[in-house]
Amino acid sequence: MDAKYSGRFAPSPTGPLHLGSLITAVASYLDARASGGSWRLRIDDIDPPRHDQTSFESIPSCLQAHGLTWDGDVIRQSLRRSTHDQYLKELEHQGLTFTCVCTRTSLGSLGQCEADCSSRRHRTGSIRFKVPDNLPNTLDDLILGSRVTPRLPANFVIRRRDGLIAYQLATAVDDLDELYTHVIRGADLLESGYRQMAIQSALGRQSPRYGHIPILYDQQGNKLSKQTGAAPVDIQTPDQNLKFALRFLNQSTALSDTSSVRDILEHAIDHWNPKAIAPPGV
Ligand code: GLU
Repeated sequence: MDAKYSGRFAPSPTGPLHLGSLITAVASYLDARASGGSWRLRIDDIDPPRHDQTSFESIPSCLQAHGLTWDGDVIRQSLRRSTHDQYLKELEHQGLTFTCVCTRTSLGSLGQCEADCSSRRHRTGSIRFKVPDNLPNTLDDLILGSRVTPRLPANFVIRRRDGLIAYQLATAVDDLDELYTHVIRGADLLESGYRQMAIQSALGRQSPRYGHIPILYDQQGNKLSKQTGAAPVDIQTPDQNLKFALRFLNQSTALSDTSSVRDILEHAIDHWNPKAIAPPGV
């Protein structure tokens, strides 16, 4: 048992949870609780144009309905804006940022700025992080195993043109400051993991351990998401939803049809086996 384990679930408030996000919540919750660790809920509310106000309520109540109770208060990522700005300055002082005025159409295939923005002193635009060359070349993922780092873009946005802090920077530094030892989330964020590790290593800090779980696809082969109109989780059937999530994660659900949410979770914690999760095809 790892007494110091600290994990989190960090949804964006862009709509109610769907089954795919519930699976991520279940996996990160079980991994934390089976290790005797803490589990926090952080609402990643740093992109107001994409927010759905009702989700500030519906996400926590959906988790509660499924018995997924978090430790401490709900964390709001937006409250850390001044800290995000300080980290931005720190990277700036290290000469690891530049202001970019490129439009989407002039960017390279990986979304990188290929113009001479870094050698000019533009006053407005997005701020990009220059990815250092000497990055670790593997990521030892808790679920996927050892992975060779793919080619990252030479630079990527950490503060958007509209002034908002980009997800990569906010998450990289919040995960450090909130002292998570483990980050369990969907495999669609694997590439983001490499970017966040690059920022964390530029700041001279040690990254948490990452574990990326398979994604739930709809019948058309699209990742379940709010953008593709995924249905909200039905909170009237939490037992069935939990069993669905456990089956998806290849976990034991050897319980009767009448088991309560509490019984299902207790059983799942006792039998949690992350090695059984099918490695995602990423
Ligand atoms: N807020 C991000 C999302 O909902 C996930 C953050 C993370 O787990 O790193 O997609």
